[in-house]
Order: sequence, then structure tokens, then C-alpha cells
Amino acid sequence: MGANTDTKRLLHFHEGNAEMKMLLGGKGANLAEMTNAGLPVPPGFTVTTDACREFYASGRVVPPDLNQEIRTALKRVELSKNQKFGGLQDPLLVSVRSGSVTSMPGMMDTILNLGLNDETVEALARNTGNPRFAFDCYRRLIQMFGNVVFDIEGVYFERQLHRKKEELSIQFDKDLPVEALQQLIDQFKSIIELRTKREFPQDVFEQLELAVEAVFRSWNNQRAIVYRKVFDIPEQQGTAINIQAMVFGNQGDDCGTGVLFTRNPSTGEKMLYGEYLTNAQGEDVVAGVRTPLPIAQLEQEMPLVFNKLAQTAARLEAHYKDMQDIEFTVEKGELFILQTRNGKRTAQAAVKLAVHLAKENILSREEALQRIEVEHLNQLLHRAIDESVKLDVLATGLPASPGAATGQAVFDADTAEEWGRAGKRVVLVSSETSPEDIHGVIAAEGVLTSRGGMTSHAAVVARGMGKPCVCGCDEVRIDAEEKLFLAGDITVREGDWITLDGSTGRVISGVVELKEPEVSEELRELLQWADGVRKLKVLTNADTPEDAVKAREFGAEGIGLCRTEHMFMSAERLPVVQAMILADTLEERKAALEQLLPMQQGDFEGLFTAMNGLPVTIRLLDPPLHEFLPKLEDLLVRQEQLKHRKTDLQEQSKLDSLIRKVRGLQEMNPMLGQRGCRLGIVFPEIYEMQAIAIFRAVQACKKRGITVLPEIMIPLVGHANELKLMRELVDRAANEVLGVEIDQPAYKVGTMIEVPRAALTAAQIVKYADFFSFGTNDLTQMTLGYSRDDAEGKFLTHYVDQGILPKNPFQVIDTDGVGVLIDWAVKQGRAHNPQLKTSICGEHGGDKESIFFCHQTGLDCVSCSPFRVPLARIAAAQAQILLGSHVHPHVELERSVSSL
Ligand code: PEP
Ligand code: MG
Repeated sequence: MGANTDTKRLLHFHEGNAEMKMLLGGKGANLAEMTNAGLPVPPGFTVTTDACREFYASGRVVPPDLNQEIRTALKRVELSKNQKFGGLQDPLLVSVRSGSVTSMPGMMDTILNLGLNDETVEALARNTGNPRFAFDCYRRLIQMFGNVVFDIEGVYFERQLHRKKEELSIQFDKDLPVEALQQLIDQFKSIIELRTKREFPQDVFEQLELAVEAVFRSWNNQRAIVYRKVFDIPEQQGTAINIQAMVFGNQGDDCGTGVLFTRNPSTGEKMLYGEYLTNAQGEDVVAGVRTPLPIAQLEQEMPLVFNKLAQTAARLEAHYKDMQDIEFTVEKGELFILQTRNGKRTAQAAVKLAVHLAKENILSREEALQRIEVEHLNQLLHRAIDESVKLDVLATGLPASPGAATGQAVFDADTAEEWGRAGKRVVLVSSETSPEDIHGVIAAEGVLTSRGGMTSHAAVVARGMGKPCVCGCDEVRIDAEEKLFLAGDITVREGDWITLDGSTGRVISGVVELKEPEVSEELRELLQWADGVRKLKVLTNADTPEDAVKAREFGAEGIGLCRTEHMFMSAERLPVVQAMILADTLEERKAALEQLLPMQQGDFEGLFTAMNGLPVTIRLLDPPLHEFLPKLEDLLVRQEQLKHRKTDLQEQSKLDSLIRKVRGLQEMNPMLGQRGCRLGIVFPEIYEMQAIAIFRAVQACKKRGITVLPEIMIPLVGHANELKLMRELVDRAANEVLGVEIDQPAYKVGTMIEVPRAALTAAQIVKYADFFSFGTNDLTQMTLGYSRDDAEGKFLTHYVDQGILPKNPFQVIDTDGVGVLIDWAVKQGRAHNPQLKTSICGEHGGDKESIFFCHQTGLDCVSCSPFRVPLARIAAAQAQILLGSHVHPHVELERSVSSL
């Protein structure tokens, strides 16, 4: 005996179960589980991973008694099928399939139809009444055998097959006549003889032994080794081998084959869904040779089989606690289940299923919540392409903001606005967008850019507005001057209709029918369950009352970030903002600010009203001022044009002074330049105007009976003194406007933590802050030293592809770097102010993995764009279910120290 006493080399399916994956491999354990559940699985057994390890330990030698054990085991299969392996009456055929512990799809080898030889093939032809089928099985066996056992490249066989088809002017394999198949069988045998000096074995046991050895060997083929390396699968695991009786659904009218879902995979409705064909083989169902029949018809054709199938479907679903996708075959009136797996589904079906399975007590509510793939929800909350329609895809870019949009192409923001006003639907196409183009983005149905990544301006703004956006699509070459773009050899001009699919990044020619989003009853219910579980609050990033209302509908518990600069961008506001920036004296600037003040007050009243009773965090102006001014290149072109016109002297001098100003505001690194609180410190009158507008809005809303919870946020603080100054400024404004009412309602002043130094010195900064909101867009940019507008289009994709970075850190929080800063800042902040409110408002606030991190770090809230609020609610619940209320131990410690 070569084996240890506790080594198990072979187990019949009925001897195993789902827990025995390490020994039986995933497939073997699943077959065992189904067999033991009493399901009609074709009989068979599994040669274990122990045997595989033995094979390698002894220098690639099949353990001597294994073949004997296999022969004995095969006897049971023969008995249960009433067939004989190698028999001349009713030959048993088997499949030999690899099946590792961790799924390694397609990496190792499988051989089907073992047991066929020159004699048994005749018996199979006779019994099935289908010689074509029998000889086709045989030719496939020789081909697979030659390839897997004798290592002959598939191309040698394929070449012969191809020649034969050409010779007979046949397009499909299935049309080869019996005689041609018989000739191919002879040719295939000759290939084996020629290349290996061995014959294709007629002894069926020899076939089986060689096949087992070959499948063991395939554990160490090149592609399996590479796959294991990539997915970190231990070499020691080895593969199991499943040897199972083949069943055929094409032996007459009491036979058939089909595919069945236990529920409708596109709607989630509870019904048997699928199709079948009588007297057919598995691949006929998918090959489209004959039109399969709906499964309901099986009830009429084979009522007994149908009933058994329905019962089996229900059992499998209850057993695996999920919708199953089942492959079945009926062989001479007997039902066999060949495979079951969790079925792929649409987002709509996923939600319905999770809720229904919970209501049917198959799943707990927590399990149902865990089932939701949150990114899937994007499909439900945005318009989508009707995939049943044939699409003319012009190019593919980054899927920057989900949803689909159809409109006429326009190449600048002004045209977008103008056409939009005229009631046209437009798609804004631009090499990239800047804050100056915001009116065009607002007017457009969707945005297409050829440059910029997932966190470029266009992407961030479009996501915030819930508009579809395809970014960084360098396959389209835009000529803004000519108002056209080229995609391959197709030219799309201004006014041509295009469709964007922001969920996949596709740019499609023409108008495409879109499907409207739905928030179904089930989704509402699921979200309520999530709310009952989660610890993290979910806020929204919103700059307009419309966004705020939408976010509230989606369940936002307040505004976590209002970027006030977006309020400065409308056609009506921009000239005033520009006048404010271009002012030569303080008086001039104040005059412009006076004009802006009532507009801002109106903006804030709108937000407070929409968020009645919920907190609203307003961030004072953040971007560098040049972003509000025309581009220098455009001005220089204009200057050039005016030079030749003597009549426009006054305009020329105005333009010259504008150019001087724009030049003066130009910076080498604007993202690290005069922006954020640096603006508020150098031009305090800007922040004063905003603070006064906020408090006036508070007062006005209060008079209307609205409950306002204002929170004023200072951007880009890096030193405690910056926040100290800005807090004093806000407090002064509050005093001035609210006077004695100052505490009713109380307001909060806090800071973004988006400069690494702010995180490091949180203990000093917290003295002036009621809250910290982590601006992880900038914090990532500055911690990694990657310009977010440039990195994605350049090296970042390369970094992620090469595995230098595990993920794009602008999408998924870099826990080892940025995460440590956040953790540290929370710890320091809470130690000095246990009441400190902490949240995150960068793009990461709507990303599942990052939400998990926020939960673990013990943040109070996440804030994300309105359309991601439902997704964040579910992800926050999943984090709680999966991780519990675990908070980093040091955070707990600091809390208890500070409360002493
Ligand atoms: C951030 O930096 O994460 C943030 C929210 O601010 P913005 O993206 O507006 O710079
Ligand atoms: Mg920022």
C-alpha cells in the first residue's frame, strides 16, 4: 500500500459533501452535495487531491493501486446505469474532468466520451439510432485524447477537420456526414501514430488510466502555474478528478436536454424559466440549430419529468439559498442534473430575488443585504441602453458616470446651452471640460471627453449631477474648431445624433431607445432593511436644491458637501464673479460681492428648504480664481484678431488689461496654489460675503418655519492658524447677522482634512473645528503626489495594470497611505474632542470598499453624489454585517482616555 492510512484516494459522490472541497475540489464537492441531497446526478466518483499529491510526491507516478480502485468504483457506476464500460451492448461512457479546490476555469484538462472504441462506437450508433452522433463523439474523443494525453497540438486535428469541410463545401461541423466523420477518425488516429509512435488505445481501461494521469499532469501545465501565481493559489492544493457517467439526451423522443433558471433571471419573478429540446444534445440548445421550446411546454410533453424537474429546482434553490441555473438532460425518460450554479441576473432581478428569498425565509434580511452587488444598483438608478437593439459602437472610453443619454453632438458649452434652451437634446463633446463649461454640462444630456480620467472635472461634475459621462475616450479625435470628431473613419459633426453609455464607456452612433430607471417596491424595502442595520450615516454632495431633493428621495440624511463654486458658474453669475476677480480696488471688489450676496443667500435658502430638518454642510470657495476667467489661449487669439481692426481700440485696451490679470493669476501648479482657505485669507471679503449670505439664509428660513442645521466648512486647511482665522471670520459674520439669536439654531464650523499636514496636526486643528470632513480627492492627490487630472490619463492605468498599485487610489481609498492619515486624524481629533463629527466627502464616499474602510475607522458619515446614496446605504449595512461594530482598537482607547 503506497498510501497513508488516512489518505483518501477515491470517494463515490454519495460519500462526500460540500464541506469537503479541499479533498474533492469544488466541482466534486458540489456533485457530492447534490447526490446526497437525493438529486438525480449521473453516477460517478472523485479521485481526490490526496491522490494528486501522491502522484507528484512519487515523481509523477500514478499510485499503483489507484487504477484498481478506479476499476472497482466503476463497477458501481455500471450497476447504477445498467451499462458496461467497454460493453458491446450498451456501453458506458464517462467523462474525466479536472476539478480544483479554487476554481481555475479552463486552466486544466477534461476528456469526454471515454469508453468509445472501434466497437463500442457501433453499439452507440445502434442504440441511439444516430450514427452521425456516435461517430462525432468518437472523433471528438480521439481529438481530445490526442491533445490532453499525448500533448499533440489541437491545430493538427483542426487542420484536418477544416480541410474536410472545405472539401465537402460544408460550413458547420454538425453538417459533416457519417462517412466524413469516419474518415476523420482514421486521419486523427494516424496523427496520433505519426506523432507519438503509439496507437489510440482500443482498450477502454487503458484510455481511462492514461486520462487520469494526464489530468493530474495538467495541474502543472504552464497556464495553470501562471494562473496559480496570479491568484495566489497554493501549489500543494492539487486537483481532484471527477469520473462520471455520460448521459445523452439525443437517443429518441423520450430524451432531451435543457437549461432552467429557478426564477426569471431578468425580472426576478418566481417562475421556472428556461428552454429545452427533445431528442437533442446539450450544445444544440445554445447552437440555434433548432428553436428550443419554453420550459412550460415540457409539462405537456413529459409531465413526470417536468414534475421531478420542478421539485428538483425548488430543492436546489432552497439548498443553495439562491436562484439556480440548472443544466439537465433526460435520457430515456430519466432526468439527470448535470450542473447547478448560482444564476447570473440583472440588477432588477437581484434586488427582487434578495427581498423575496428573505420573505420566503430562505435568507435572513442580513443575508439578503449581503447578496446585493452594490455597483449593480447603478443600473437601476439611471437610464440604460436597451441591449436587445443592435448598436453601432463608434468608440469606447472610461465609464465615468453611469447611465445612458442620447442627443445631438455639440462641441462647446455655449452651443450646448443655446441648443438646450431651444429645447434640443445635446451631448457635449470636448477634449476636456473645466469649471467654465459648467453651463454646457448643465444643458447637456451627457458629456464625452477625449482626455481626463475617472476623477477629471467632467467626470466629477457629471457624477454629481447624475448625468452620463464617458471620459478619456482617446479613440475619438475631436476638432472643436471644425465642430466634428473622428472615430475610426466615421465623422460625427455638430448636430449629428450620438448616444453615450456612461456605465460601459461606449460611444454609439445615432439615437438608441433608452430604458427608464425604476426604484421598485423591493428596492425601497431593501434600503429600509439596510437603514435598520448600518452605523454610518449617509449624506450627499449636492450644490442645487434639485440635487438635494433627489438625494433626499434616495434617502440622504443631509448634505455633506456643497461646493459653492458651482453656484458661481451660471451664465448670469459668471460676469459678476469675473468683475469681482478683476476688480482693481477693494471697493470695486466689494461692489461685485454686494451683487453676489443676495444670489448666494437665495442659493442657500433653496438648499436649507430642501433639506429642512437635516444638516447642510456648505464649503466656502475652493478653486483657484483663474478657473472663473476665460482661457489665456482664447484671449490671445482674440487679441490677435483685434490688432488688425483700428476701430476697436477701447475693446483692445480692455482685452489687454484682462490678459494682464489672467497672466497674473496663472500658476505653475494651481492645485497647490492660491486656492481654498488661502483665498479666504488673502481676500477675506469673499468668505465674509459667503458667511453673511449663509446666516441671512438661516434667518430667512427660520422665519418660514424651516429647521436649519448649518455647517460651514473651510477647505484646504493645512495649519491650525488658518482655521483659527477663518473660524473667527465666520463667528464674526454669525454675530453680525444673528446677534442674540446666535445659538438658535446652533451652527457648526469645521474643516476639510485634505492636506496631509492637516491630518498630521489634527490635534492642533481640532481646537477650532466642530467637524472634520476628509476630502480624499485632494488628500489622495497630495499624499501620493499624483495630480488627479493628469495621473489617470497617463501613468496610473499603467500602474494598476502592472500591479504596482492594487487599485486606482482616486476610486478606492489607499488604506495603507491615505487611510493611515485618516485614522490618525480621527484618533487625534476625538482624543481632544469626543464630540467631533467625522465624515468623508471625496469621491470615495460612494465607493463600497472605501465605505467599508470608513466603517472600520469609525467615521460618523460618508457623503456621496445623490445617485450613489442608495448604494452607500446598502454598502454601509454590508460593512456592519460583515465587520460588526469593530473600530480600530486605538480609536477605542483614545476615546476612553479622553472621557476620563
Ligand atoms: C476633495 O478634495 O476630496 C473634495 C471633496 O474637494 P474637491 O474634490 O472639490 O477638491
Ligand atoms: Mg478638495
